[in-house]
Amino acid sequence: MRKHKKIDSWFLSRYGMNLYRGCSHNCSYCDGRSEGYNVNGEFGNDVVVKINAIDVLRHELDTRRKRKQLKKGYIMVGGGVGDSYQPIEKKYKMPHKTLLLLSEKEFPVHILTKSTLVKRDVAIIEKINEKNKCIVSFSFSSTNEKISSIFEPNVPSPNQRLETLQFFKDRGISCGMFLLPVIPFITDVRDVMERTIQDAKDVGIDFIIFGGMTLKEGIQKQYFLNVLKQHYPKLIAEYNLIYKKSRWGNAISEYNDKLHKIFNILMKYYKIPKRIPLEFFKNFISGNDLVVVLLEHIDYLLKLEGKKSTFGYVAYQISQKDLPLENMLYKLNTIKGVGKITEKIIREILTTKTSKYYEQLSKL
Ligand code: SF4
Repeated sequence: MRKHKKIDSWFLSRYGMNLYRGCSHNCSYCDGRSEGYNVNGEFGNDVVVKINAIDVLRHELDTRRKRKQLKKGYIMVGGGVGDSYQPIEKKYKMPHKTLLLLSEKEFPVHILTKSTLVKRDVAIIEKINEKNKCIVSFSFSSTNEKISSIFEPNVPSPNQRLETLQFFKDRGISCGMFLLPVIPFITDVRDVMERTIQDAKDVGIDFIIFGGMTLKEGIQKQYFLNVLKQHYPKLIAEYNLIYKKSRWGNAISEYNDKLHKIFNILMKYYKIPKRIPLEFFKNFISGNDLVVVLLEHIDYLLKLEGKKSTFGYVAYQISQKDLPLENMLYKLNTIKGVGKITEKIIREILTTKTSKYYEQLSKL
C-alpha cells in the first residue's frame, strides 16, 4: 500500500495501491504515461501485473507485526498509474482478492475505475458495505459516446459505465462520479458538461468530484496532441494558449477559474454534492483527519464561489501534527493560521463531528 502523506480529502483515504502498472484502457490524456511515473514498456500495450501484491498486502495489513496501528480511513483501490480492473483482470482477479482481504480485515473501501468488470465483485462489495462501507466510483471525461471513443479507446462506453453505476445504486451501494479530466474545448463546453451531470443525476449519483486536464511536457503532451491533431486540428492553437509548460502540466488559472465557475453553476442547479458527503466518512476517520477533511472541503467550496480562504493552509498545518487535537483544545491558537473563527470551527468539529459553517456551504 502507498501511504499518503496526509488524508486525501477527495477519496477519504490514507492508503492507496496500484495492482498493475500501465493500463490497456489507453486514454489519450492519461498522465500515467508521463516520464515521472517510470512505467516500463509501451503505455497502453504493456501492463505489469504485480502478481505478489496479495501476499505483500496480507503482510502489510497484519496488525500483530506493527508497532503503530494503521491509520483509519478508506482504502483506495484504483487510480494512479493503471485502472485496477484491467481487461487482463479476467485472468488475474487482483482486485477481487484484494477486496476479500480488505473485507476480512474490516476496512472501508473506495473503488475508482472505468471498467464494468467491477460488477463481478458485487457480492464482496455488498459484504464490505454491510459491515463498514464500500463506495464505487467511476471516472468520466463526459458521457458523450463519440468523444469517449476517440479519447478513451479501450474503455467501456459511457453508457455501459452509467449502467454499472445504476447496477450498484440499485443494490444500495453509494456511488460517485469523478468528472475528470474534462477535455478543454471538447468536454468542458457547457452542453456536454450539463448532459454528463444530468446523466449522473439520473442514476442517483451521491457526489461528483470535478477537475480539469493536466498536460505535462514530454510524452503525455506529445501523445495527446497527436490524437487531438487527428480529430480536432483547429484546437491546437487554443491548447497552446492555455497550456504554458507549467511544472505539473496545469492549464492557466484564467481557464481553470472559468471552468470551475460553470461546474459550480451546474451543480447548484442539479443539487449534487461536490465532495464526498460527511455521513460517508465521519465515523471512519480520526478526529484530526476529520478536521483536516472538513477544513479542506470548506476551502474548496469557498474558492468555487470565488472567495479567498486560508482554511486549506490550516488543514495542512494540522495534517502535520501527530498529537490528537482533543489534547490541545485550549492551545489550538498556537497552530499556524488558526484565528478565532477557525478555532471555533475546529472545536465544533471535534465535539459534534460536523460544523454549521460547513453544512451551510455544502447545502444543496
Ligand atoms: S483508465 Fe485511468 S489509468 Fe487507465 S489509461 Fe485511462 S486514465 Fe489512465
